[in-house]
Amino acid sequence: MLKAKELTRTVRRRRIVDAISFELPEGSTATVLGPSGSGKTTLLRMIMGLDLPDAGELHLGERCLARTGLHVPPETRDISLVFQEFTLFPNLDVADNLAFGLKRPHAEQRHVDDLLELLEIAHLKHRRIDRLSGGEQQRVALARALAVKPRVLLMDEPFSNIDNMLRERLYGRLRARLAEYGMTTLIATHDHKEAFFFSDLIMVMKDGALIDHNPPQLIYERPANAWVAAFFGDANAVEGGLLATLWPTGDWQPGTRYLVRPEAFDTGDPDAADFVAARVDNVVYYGAHQDLAVSLAGGATLKVRAPGPRRITAGERVGIRLHPALDPHPLPDPA
Ligand code: ADP
Ligand code: MG
Repeated sequence: MLKAKELTRTVRRRRIVDAISFELPEGSTATVLGPSGSGKTTLLRMIMGLDLPDAGELHLGERCLARTGLHVPPETRDISLVFQEFTLFPNLDVADNLAFGLKRPHAEQRHVDDLLELLEIAHLKHRRIDRLSGGEQQRVALARALAVKPRVLLMDEPFSNIDNMLRERLYGRLRARLAEYGMTTLIATHDHKEAFFFSDLIMVMKDGALIDHNPPQLIYERPANAWVAAFFGDANAVEGGLLATLWPTGDWQPGTRYLVRPEAFDTGDPDAADFVAARVDNVVYYGAHQDLAVSLAGGATLKVRAPGPRRITAGERVGIRLHPALDPHPLPDPA
């Protein structure tokens, strides 16, 4: 268990990491998700032991790594950090960079080769780091961190330089490998899809604070507030009184705003009994689905996702219905 208790770091009287607490069970994978400047890198650097907290505690299993008056140095924490800027030796080749840090590089050669295959950089093994692209260097850094099999692996935006198609291939392989090693893993990212893919637990950071933490499904369906909801994709905040008049099937309270994701609506015949007629104001085509902006007779507007092959065009009348599986959940404003 990696456990942080009110971990705080203050720079020039600003709390860049503000009293963050969490518990990561052994072998679990979590992500720290937040926009640029929210404190993700600083949090990872504190866990690694490169930045000192000025309040709070950090524990790994039975061992205290940091608290007032105690600082376990990074090299004895059994934690590795893959930096956003990779910190490889530019004038050494890939193989030598990987051998660095391994106790018995020769005995572990097969394991290292296997990691190079996994990350699709085996053909670059004898090339110098300064002759590699950013994405290739990023994968070397990942391989180097995986090779030492730390108890805890921290990765700071590990896929930021890797193109989409390669990224999707690496995701699945890497997740399987992390599970096999049983490493506790914490990934900092600003990409919510990446967070969904890897996480048992998602921790959302904003302005240094941990504003929400939950497994992916809960955080998507029951976000702490409207800001978190919007970070995970389009969201409607719909007043309960309106929902009750349109779709009297749910337990909607007037005066409360509810989170209704665009995909929680069905589209259909505007004149059919259980549909409410709306006008399509705008359509964006995304291939697998279309995103519609629609307005209802009373003037309210909604974002609606229309999946599948049926094409809807702006100006058209369309029927809107709430999916019966929607579980009403209030959506508080950000504090
Ligand atoms: P993220 O990784 O989420 O982009 P960072 O942890 O890098 O966020 O930074 C959080 C905030 O703290 C930012 O506003 C950044 O400018 C500031 N910051 C980080 N390190 C320092 C530092 N050494 N001195 C001053 N400000 C810093
Ligand atoms: Mg960062």
